[in-house]
Amino acid sequence: MPAYEYLCQACEHRFDLRQKMSDPEATECPSCGGAVKRLISGGAGAIVKGGGGSFPQVPSCPSASQCPAAAQMGCGGGCGPVH
Ligand SMILES: [Zn+2]
Repeated sequence: MPAYEYLCQACEHRFDLRQKMSDPEATECPSCGGAVKRLISGGAGAIVKGGGGSFPQVPSCPSASQCPAAAQMGCGGGCGPVH
């Protein structure tokens, strides 16, 4: 079962949640009840190992051409927030 990493936007509490792919995303911080957003895995290694790059990540930009910073990082715009 994959583990997803979340970051609370209110108190910056980070936590992992083991969920099935079909489970809905968590929306509440277990610490303060604030809104959380799911982080793209990569650091934790729970989902993507070895940087194969074929795992479908949620892009923060519609395309690399609209996201020059991401293009410079060589990830094609799929490696997370760049702003
Ligand atoms: Zn919180």
